[in-house]
Amino acid sequence: MKKKIIRVKKLAKIYRESENYALDHIDLSINQGSIFGLLGPNGAGKSTFINILAGLVNKSSGKVNVCGFDLDSDPKTIRGNLGIVPQEIIIDPFFTPMEIMNIQAGMYAVEKVNIKNNEILNLLGLGDKANAYARSLSGGMKRRLMVAKAMVHNPPILILDEPTAGVDVELRTKLWESIKNLNKNGTTIILTTHYLKEAELLCDDIAVINRGKVIANDSKSNLLKILDEKEIKIEFTKKINKIPNKIKPYIINKSSYEITLKFNKSKINTAELIKHFVNNKLELKDITTKDSDLEDIFIKLLKN
Ligand code: ADP
Repeated sequence: MKKKIIRVKKLAKIYRESENYALDHIDLSINQGSIFGLLGPNGAGKSTFINILAGLVNKSSGKVNVCGFDLDSDPKTIRGNLGIVPQEIIIDPFFTPMEIMNIQAGMYAVEKVNIKNNEILNLLGLGDKANAYARSLSGGMKRRLMVAKAMVHNPPILILDEPTAGVDVELRTKLWESIKNLNKNGTTIILTTHYLKEAELLCDDIAVINRGKVIANDSKSNLLKILDEKEIKIEFTKKINKIPNKIKPYIINKSSYEITLKFNKSKINTAELIKHFVNNKLELKDITTKDSDLEDIFIKLLKN
């Protein structure tokens, strides 16, 4: 059994003047050392969850335990164990990254021996910008500086709220690299996202919430197994005149030169299907395959 760094039991939140629970008695636990993705559509309750951990929103009921500390009795200790990267960039443009880090270290009263600002800036690919004015940093660099700021007090857990919202492709990749670096160094990462590719690329474990309820919570690899579907598109060198009978049940699309098949991976072997074409003297020109991804699973879960 993996060690749990966060354990949440029957956590509920109902905002004043609201009829519905923003969090409806959820149970959730997060493995130490993992990258954990909290997924869900807008209004699902993701920010509420994070804000409760961060002590910014009071829970209505339930139990929250972070690094062995109870939120009711030790909120301050919990706060010290978390680094939080908000969505918006809040950086004073007249300071350099190193000055910003030093100010932050002062605010957290980090002891001198524990200040690792150089190391953190290097991990985030900002080592060579340590003494440049923050206003000269690109948008992506500023965002990484926000992550660096959140790591000043060396928290074992880093929380990122929609880390790549509005970030372009190249900078996004760089930010993902930084997040993975921090994780390799031992930090447990929690991120919210509604960008499913991000979760698929980064996360070890994923919880999906919708209307305040956890509708899935598993390792990414187990979640990807939920949909046992595979699609293959086959292009032929000549016009298709006769389709083998064994193939017919799996056809979802067909044109003169192309056929798309859909089947259950666990029951049908792709090579076996293709053999039927070869036996019928249909010469293949190209094959493309698509396994179900997180997006397919997400849509299925929300539909249910
Ligand atoms: P997400 O982060 O997944 O978009 P939120 O946690 O922000 O979801 O919101 C969950 C639900 O709680 C939504 O219905 C939202 O309207 C409601 N909510 C969030 N914050 C407040 C608030 N301060 N007052 C009242 N209702 C709120």
